[in-house]
Amino acid sequence: MTSRPSSGSPTPPPGTSPSPPEAAATPCEARSLPPAGVVVDMASLGRGRADRINVSSDDAPARWYVDAGGEQLWIDVLHETLKHGLTPRWWTDYLHLTVGGTLSNAGISGQAFRHGPQISNVYELDVITGKGDMITCSHEKNSALFYGVLGALGQFGIITRARISLEPAPHRGFDYVEGRLLKGRDVSSSSFISEEASEKIKLLADEFGAIFLLEGAVYYEQATASMVYQELESLLKQLSFVPGFAFTKGVSYIGFLDRVHEEDTKQSSTEHEDVLHPWLNLFLPKSRIRDLESANKWDDKMSAPIPDEEEVFYTIGLLPSATREDWEYFDKQHHDILSFCHQEGIEFKQYLPQYVTEMDWMKHFGRKRDSILRVIC
Ligand SMILES: Cc1cc2nc3c(=O)[nH]c(=O)nc-3n(C[C@H](O)[C@H](O)[C@H](O)COP(=O)(O)OP(=O)(O)OC[C@H]3O[C@@H](n4cnc5c(N)ncnc54)[C@H](O)[C@@H]3O)c2cc1C
Repeated sequence: MTSRPSSGSPTPPPGTSPSPPEAAATPCEARSLPPAGVVVDMASLGRGRADRINVSSDDAPARWYVDAGGEQLWIDVLHETLKHGLTPRWWTDYLHLTVGGTLSNAGISGQAFRHGPQISNVYELDVITGKGDMITCSHEKNSALFYGVLGALGQFGIITRARISLEPAPHRGFDYVEGRLLKGRDVSSSSFISEEASEKIKLLADEFGAIFLLEGAVYYEQATASMVYQELESLLKQLSFVPGFAFTKGVSYIGFLDRVHEEDTKQSSTEHEDVLHPWLNLFLPKSRIRDLESANKWDDKMSAPIPDEEEVFYTIGLLPSATREDWEYFDKQHHDILSFCHQEGIEFKQYLPQYVTEMDWMKHFGRKRDSILRVIC
């Protein structure tokens, strides 16, 4: 749910700290570096080392959390916390990304409508600032740095530890929803869609030009398995959709959360090359959503820019998978959409942008830019 890996490290705003930490593996062209910048090898802090992922609790009232190194992959955090029957409840679609890497953006997926982005669920951070100081910060302690670092694209310093809230691993309930607009060529089998179903969907998409697909996840355990299908049926009765086009599939909790990695691995091995993701993600104000055809859990004090004018906004993600032959087609499509938004005066914010000019960066951070500069200076 981002710009493609081949541009995963945005160009930093001018006048900010030139030290992009290098976290999870993405293709080389993913990284951009300002003049005289340095690359920090985050994995050397101890990726995968058990003592860098610690589950603990406060005494009273009981509050569970995990202290994870900024270099740790979310998939390892998930495995470690599940040993305690606990889990973070907000994810990105892909878990082979680092804790520091997603917290420097926002960390969004189909749970954000209920729990907010990952950055809204952090208790405390250790940050190495541009001056070389190691500072612990939280909502109460060094709060300007805390809010500044979260969603600031790595410009305030390096997150070396994050204390992330945990909850009991879900046994029941509806906890994930994402909508997708699909054209025939975008339809492929996935953890939600079997190969047989994807053929049916492709025909439908071809017939109508495009279709809207709603993905949801309902958690259950063996004891409640029989009830979950009844609940699902009553939920589906409230929705309007083409008869015969509701598909269900049972997968494990980890299997569900790690689905994108599994699909990418499958596709790369079939096509014998890395899957590219020329993705575009926009935050659009509610009033302008129709032009393009959550309750707010985003903390406005954090650096991550969101639309200014309205309390409710939509996340639009264009998330195709591409090869080296056709990624430019998608890139052009994204430019056309952005031009359309500009022409129509739609005040969107791009998630994971790749701006080049100072003017574009100033517009992106908008009114947050002054507070960001105050923390840096
Ligand atoms: C396949 C794929 C799927 C994705 N899906 C989602 C998604 O569903 N939702 C979503 O929100 N995002 C998603 N992303 C985007 C992701 O949040 C960003 O690309 C993130 O920066 C990746 O983290 P990384 O560990 O790969 O960092 P890298 O690509 O190695 O680093 C990217 C940048 O992050 C910053 N950074 C990294 N580590 C730290 C640190 N310790 N401290 C401070 N800054 C740091 C730096 O600015 C660095 O230049 C996805 C990315 C990919 C490649």
